[in-house]
Amino acid sequence: MSKHIRLAIIGSGPAGYSAAIYSSRAQLNPIVFAGSEIGGQLMYTTEVENFPGHPEGIRGPKLMNDIKTQAEKFGAKVLFESVSKLDLSSKPFKIWVNDMQSDPHYFADSLIISTGATAMMLNLDNERELLGRGVSTCAVCDAAFFREKKVFVVGGGDSAMEDALALANFSDQVTIIHRRDKFRASKIMQTRVLNHKKISVLWNSHVKKINGTEKLESLEIETAGVVSNHQADGLFMAIGHRPQNSLISDQLELTAEGYIVTSQSPSKEGTVLATKRVNNQGKIVYPTMTSAEGVFAAGDVVDLRYRQAITASGMGAAAALDAEAWLLENQG
Ligand code: NAP
Repeated sequence: MSKHIRLAIIGSGPAGYSAAIYSSRAQLNPIVFAGSEIGGQLMYTTEVENFPGHPEGIRGPKLMNDIKTQAEKFGAKVLFESVSKLDLSSKPFKIWVNDMQSDPHYFADSLIISTGATAMMLNLDNERELLGRGVSTCAVCDAAFFREKKVFVVGGGDSAMEDALALANFSDQVTIIHRRDKFRASKIMQTRVLNHKKISVLWNSHVKKINGTEKLESLEIETAGVVSNHQADGLFMAIGHRPQNSLISDQLELTAEGYIVTSQSPSKEGTVLATKRVNNQGKIVYPTMTSAEGVFAAGDVVDLRYRQAITASGMGAAAALDAEAWLLENQG
């Protein structure tokens, strides 16, 4: 038997759980479909030092568990189930979980999509095991742990430049490993990096092997066919992110990179959608609404710019407020 709900939240990172806190306090009785990556990317982080309210820092998994507990306290239901199919073509929206049967498992009046993004990795042995133990996908989060250490950044885009500069505030030796002889990053970022005395670049190079058991110890790096061994304390992956959009990729408008477009997404598509949604008082109605009425999105699946737990949390709260207002206006 299908169940009818007012609000379904898909994804259980900071955006999804924060949306659950706000919408459960608004008595919308949300159901959170936690998915296979329960708690999102922070579950792979050791210490989080930049989430307000935790002056001593907090372990990533503990932070996520605490936010979940806070949502459940107000009545949000967190199901450890993955949504396998969504149908947004008519209202109420149809949701199938895990095994697909012909009838949907749930009908939802509104949806918040907060399925996140995954940092791209090199697919080398050991990289997942050493995540949070020297290998990192977020320099802004982890740079301070590498004071006076020897660190490497992989990539040649703006993220790699930004990561190298953030790391150079703490580490004495930052080396960028880039697979070509040119960066694709913006000129200004390249100039900052190339003029920085703590940052050097290994051009035409790639990581062949990541060594370490309890923590990262060294890297084997191939440069123009020659492999060399480098002692390493940190390895930062900055080779791009992939938004997790497979459930909705043919049902909602996406940016060229695959991020969901909302009226507040930092992209030209977001600006176009926002312009269409300006009301007669000059305000954008439902800034977190996607191209489909009643479907909202928040967190890293939207955010091609900041990708921080706190920005995802804020967007989750905004999506819940928008969903509440939209439900009130459209369904009373
Ligand atoms: P990106 O621009 O796609 O750059 C990814 C980099 O990783 C490229 O240099 C690429 O090399 C390299 N790479 C990809 N796959 C690789 C692999 N398997 N092995 C080794 N290297 C690999 O991604 P991004 O730097 O995350 O930036 C994404 C977007 O966010 C961009 O539009 C960027 O401008 C924006 N952004 C802006 C700022 C800012 O304005 N301050 C900061 C961060 C990001 P190739 O160059 O050889 O392809």
